[in-house]
Amino acid sequence: TQRILSGIQASGSLHLGNYLGALKKFADMQALDAERYYMIADLHAITVWQDPAQLLSQTREIAACYLAAGVDPDRSVIFPQSAVPGHVELGWLFNCVARLGWLDRMTQFKDKAGKDKERASIGLYTYPVLQAADILLYKATHVPVGEDQRQHLELTRDVAKKFNHDYKVDYFPLPETLYQGPGARIMSLRDGTAKMSKSDPSDNSRINLTDDTDTIASKIKKAKSDAEVLPSEEAGLEGRAEAKNLVGIYAALASVSVADVLSDFGGKGFGAFKPALAEVVVDKMSPISERLRALLNDPAEIDRVLRAGADKAIEVSAPVVAETKKIMGLWN
Ligand code: ATP
Ligand code: MG
Repeated sequence: TQRILSGIQASGSLHLGNYLGALKKFADMQALDAERYYMIADLHAITVWQDPAQLLSQTREIAACYLAAGVDPDRSVIFPQSAVPGHVELGWLFNCVARLGWLDRMTQFKDKAGKDKERASIGLYTYPVLQAADILLYKATHVPVGEDQRQHLELTRDVAKKFNHDYKVDYFPLPETLYQGPGARIMSLRDGTAKMSKSDPSDNSRINLTDDTDTIASKIKKAKSDAEVLPSEEAGLEGRAEAKNLVGIYAALASVSVADVLSDFGGKGFGAFKPALAEVVVDKMSPISERLRALLNDPAEIDRVLRAGADKAIEVSAPVVAETKKIMGLWN
């Protein structure tokens, strides 16, 4: 049977990119006959500084976003990464399998560490190894993520391959990554060449799941665009990163193709397109943000979901840790 694992870092409020690249897929995958594990990656979040009280409330908020987006705790296991000891345990074991040269090639580290990489945490550097542990701990076969995680998922497969090879076993499956479809890479509203991110200091760069109607409209109005009209053919969007992104958001949310959007808006300028886009975003996002607000009023219910999810995740993962240690010759 298929096993799906994915997660979202508890590093800030969720945005439209997280919704289209991850949350929506998590909910849609409930139609499949599979086991589903969706974590809130708080151990990944602390690779950069997090205020403790805020980290805790972000963890609950992300759990609430899962629920609001339609992830159902009866069909999916929702849990905080740090509540399941196997992530850290397998993470260490894999630190001894992964190679320094592999990590040196990771572009996300370069982006997040910035210019002064001497001051970055070691956790930020080995983060992709913990991510390999997250996935292989459940022997996951499928991992739905956004485009930006492509390189890390390759590394997960390399860890599984090297482990199986070095210990002459066929223990870990090579997980397949699922990043197809519209919305796999939503860009910043301020810069069409940077991805929309929770950790971007500019709030105007993203649409948060918690934004109200006026905020959404004003962010789209201020979104970077260009002075030209929209083309009537897709090819005309090449070299126009911002225009391409805004049209892509419209298509992904309205569940239509980019060609469909251009057949309606080709020849029109952003003065006409932006209000239409704002309407689509509000239309799709406001039911989710309404459910989210209601859920946030009931933190005890969120904690119940997380506790039950953590118990289930521990039950499934503990034997994998034990077996991995046995294969490696560790006393247990
Ligand atoms: P951070 O800036 O802290 O890394 P993030 O916005 O990149 O936050 P993550 O928690 O790292 O969010 O990623 C959660 C999921 O959302 C992953 O599957 C990731 O691929 C997806 N995702 C993140 N940003 C985008 C985006 N701009 N477009 C599509 N998917 C995205
Ligand atoms: Mg990220």
